[in-house]
Amino acid sequence: MLKSSSGVHDPAAMEAQPHVSINFDLPRFSLGVGDRFAHQAAAQLAACQLALEQGVEVIPVWNKSNREHTIIGSDPSQTRAAADAAVRDLAWQLPYFLDADHINLKTVGRFLAPCDFFTIDVADLIGQPASPASVDSFLGRHAELIGDVRIPGIEQPFRTDAEQVRRVANTFLAAVEEAGTIYRALAERKGAGSFVPEISMDETDRPQTPIELLIILAAVADEKIPIQTIAPKFTGRFNKGVDYVGDLTQFAREFEEDLAAIAFAVQTYGLPANLKLSVHSGSDKFSIYPAIYRALTRTGTGVHLKTAGTTWLEEVIGLAEAGWDGLAVAKEIYAEAFAHAADLTKPYATVIDIDSAQLPSPVLVNAWSSDQYTRALRHNQSDPAYNPSFRQLLHVGFKVAATLGDRYLRALETHRAVIAKNVTTNLFERHIRPVFLGQ
Ligand SMILES: [Zn+2]
Repeated sequence: MLKSSSGVHDPAAMEAQPHVSINFDLPRFSLGVGDRFAHQAAAQLAACQLALEQGVEVIPVWNKSNREHTIIGSDPSQTRAAADAAVRDLAWQLPYFLDADHINLKTVGRFLAPCDFFTIDVADLIGQPASPASVDSFLGRHAELIGDVRIPGIEQPFRTDAEQVRRVANTFLAAVEEAGTIYRALAERKGAGSFVPEISMDETDRPQTPIELLIILAAVADEKIPIQTIAPKFTGRFNKGVDYVGDLTQFAREFEEDLAAIAFAVQTYGLPANLKLSVHSGSDKFSIYPAIYRALTRTGTGVHLKTAGTTWLEEVIGLAEAGWDGLAVAKEIYAEAFAHAADLTKPYATVIDIDSAQLPSPVLVNAWSSDQYTRALRHNQSDPAYNPSFRQLLHVGFKVAATLGDRYLRALETHRAVIAKNVTTNLFERHIRPVFLGQ
């Protein structure tokens, strides 16, 4: 698998020699971490260091979407500064990346300079029919996708006919063509090979099947996009901040078949050898982690796991655990989130399941101890005090902390140590351990 010994992102070297000595191949295991308020980069990186001490290289990728920047009023250059500072302070010697998460041509501008990983989001174009001419030429080019399609690693061949492939092409070709347009615009401005391209199709209604993934990858290769990660929509529900809801057996089978489809596409269409799945988890999909670990171990392939929002919740847990003014800020955030629940949840309507009957009143929460608050929020499903509705509301409630402005940031600084402990422990124990170490 890929090792990039030359892939050290040294900020000083970058200034002296931009895009020369740096290897932009994403290594086998990578973790998409989010740092909403740009204060936890070091605590997040510390989790990757713990992984390294256990003998596994997990590369941090700091991702923050345009939506998050807009809600908070932050800028991607701040994420870059925080990541570079953490890497310098902790003397991290392996690669690291900054992901412009879910961008398109309209939103990419401010991400161009600070980012070296671009998640090209074309989900909106899925289902918009491509031009009949490009569908025809796709079918003409890809006779291998019609009939019995045998993918090594999948027992039964997929049986397709021209009509079916035409239908799939019609569903996805316009989206992939748009990804090509965005990729070429990025390559022109940043230089081909100087960033990691990902294509995301997760924010859509229907999961893609493995044969659809293969057809999509054939189209991606036609567009000459050297993608290193692809984020399909998987079966089941990926609600924000809470565990997976769905059929675990089916997920495991689909995941393995997706890996087989990717390996086959790399061979058949000459896509980058390090191409891997990107799992946009919406944070904390603990119950699918064992299946992911087993599949990676069996096949020797890699994965990019985005679990971004989990860190913001650990900030709130840390504040609550700190007590005093920290707990007061955590309570204030909940009270405001409760008051503005309708507005806060609107952009996330399809990815949350909050039972409002389970939301405690702010009056009740204001009387809580540190212990009561952290137990309700901490993602420990074996604790009867854990409240997934409370957690989901706070997950989408980071806008409230943004409106507290300096007061929130000061609280993060005052209680830095207890927050950092929660951030690092959460990432290492609950995410890195099960996914990358199989523990
Ligand atoms: Zn996503």
